[in-house]
Amino acid sequence: MLLRSSLRGVRNSRAFRPQIFPSWNSHFSTASKPSCDPRYPPRALNFIGGAFVDSQAKEWVDVINPATQQILSQLPLTTNEEFKAAVSAAKQAFPPWRNTPIITRQRIMLKLQELIRRETDKLAKIITAEQGKTLKDAHGDVFRGLEVVEHACGMASLQMGEYVSNVSSGIDTYSIREPLGVCAGICPFNFPAMIPLWMFPIAVTCGNTFVLKPTEKAPGASIMLAELAKKAGLPDGVLNIVHGTHDIVNAICDDDDIRAISFVGSNTAGMHIYARAAAKGKRIQCNLGAKNHGIVMPDANMDATINALVAAGFGAAGQRCMALSTVVFVGDSKSWENKLIERAKALKVNAGFEPDPDLGPVISKQAKERICGLVQSGIESGARLVLDGRTIEVPGYAHGNFIGPTILSDVTGEMECYKEEIFGPVLICMKADSLDEAIKIVNSNKYGNGASIFTTSGAAARKFQTEIEAGQVGINVPIPVPLPFFSFTGSKASFAGDLNFYGKAGVSFYTQIKTVTQQWKDLPSDSKVSLAMPTSQKL
Ligand code: NAD
Repeated sequence: MLLRSSLRGVRNSRAFRPQIFPSWNSHFSTASKPSCDPRYPPRALNFIGGAFVDSQAKEWVDVINPATQQILSQLPLTTNEEFKAAVSAAKQAFPPWRNTPIITRQRIMLKLQELIRRETDKLAKIITAEQGKTLKDAHGDVFRGLEVVEHACGMASLQMGEYVSNVSSGIDTYSIREPLGVCAGICPFNFPAMIPLWMFPIAVTCGNTFVLKPTEKAPGASIMLAELAKKAGLPDGVLNIVHGTHDIVNAICDDDDIRAISFVGSNTAGMHIYARAAAKGKRIQCNLGAKNHGIVMPDANMDATINALVAAGFGAAGQRCMALSTVVFVGDSKSWENKLIERAKALKVNAGFEPDPDLGPVISKQAKERICGLVQSGIESGARLVLDGRTIEVPGYAHGNFIGPTILSDVTGEMECYKEEIFGPVLICMKADSLDEAIKIVNSNKYGNGASIFTTSGAAARKFQTEIEAGQVGINVPIPVPLPFFSFTGSKASFAGDLNFYGKAGVSFYTQIKTVTQQWKDLPSDSKVSLAMPTSQKL
């Protein structure tokens, strides 16, 4: 955990961009100092029972701009009493909310999507300041979340049950999907808007109430989304926000009133949460880490493929769970590597607010160290470093956590840099003699989030689609994340649980099925008692 004292020396560094935060009204507290001396840094507020409230926490975490090390705000480790108050607010809000007509719940989502659309610029600026991604990419972060809100606007159809008439004489059976109660969401740093929007819009439109724990590294977008949800008409207590790290996550796992948990983040945290919450009988969906491969066939369109590899490998500084972090060149396509290096070299690395950067910094100093360590381990185990971005200097941002595009070639399956998720702007290149061999490489990896093939052969694409063990498959598409009418379908070590995020599975996750069997018929007056198991036909 980064503490303010550790950064005192650099907090006044260049590119100090305070305009985003102090002007950033109600969700950050500036109240503890007189108005002529507004509190700086401002403090992130909890959102409990419809009110933004200052925490009584004793411990606080700095939220730091990764390009400058400026402390943007301080985030509380929400106290246990505050957490309990949030769960209690959600529990109290549940009965009236579940009884609110679905059409009303949908209309609130319609309003929310309008407000998010209107405030996209502001949300994007908050994301760029806290998370570091480029402004353009931050807009994409908001937009991909907005699509889930739009999808939630059609919840009445999505939540429809089933009906079979006359399952037996005069008897009908139908099923209804009912909300679970209080649900919770635990979020990662890399998509500060999109991932909270994967969670609460679907959950609450199904009739649940929600406790959201944003990432401690970039909480601003979640707080602003809560404000917009309130403005859109979401009743008090339906959405609540608490802050913190491990302790609050454990409290969420242990709480008897929370029925379901949506988690997105690393495998270490996710598997801990999965085990701990499952022991309490909760429903859980965990989207986890990844190592996404792109298989390049020699018959692919070279130009388009190289552009796709560069964009998907280095976009968002490689901090996407669907970043294409490994290329497997098949046969002669290996010779394309030089072109790949050339194009990666041309990418512009800069702070996200500067004009037209291609990639910004990684999230923290620790992340940078970890990424560089994995690159070094690759070199030491025999990989060739054909492009080295580790010592990049970005003028004016001496303290930023920048890493330029980095490419490791001749990587093999047993190297640590291949086995571990790097989560940085590092592309790993491997080679295979045939498509069979390339598929074998991909399938040997423990992760199964996404995999793509680049080819002009329908037969190769079909073989790949059938044999590849990844949940999201791209054919000439580098980042095959489906739109929300499908689900986000990572598999193997990239997912724990049974029901995926959004799409039909997302609605199933946030609802439980009740089946009703009804009999409406005139019963004969001379009927007899029968203790045999009822069946639909007389034997
Ligand atoms: P992280 O696991 O460090 O943090 C995620 C959340 O878990 C945070 O809210 C954090 O406070 C909490 N947390 C972290 N460690 C914990 C622990 N030991 N006990 C309890 N709670 C803990 O993840 P991150 O660094 O924020 O995000 C990056 C990771 O998320 C990458 O592995 C990436 O692949 C993954 N991710 C996956 C998807 C997907 O859809 N598969 C999407 C985005 C990110």
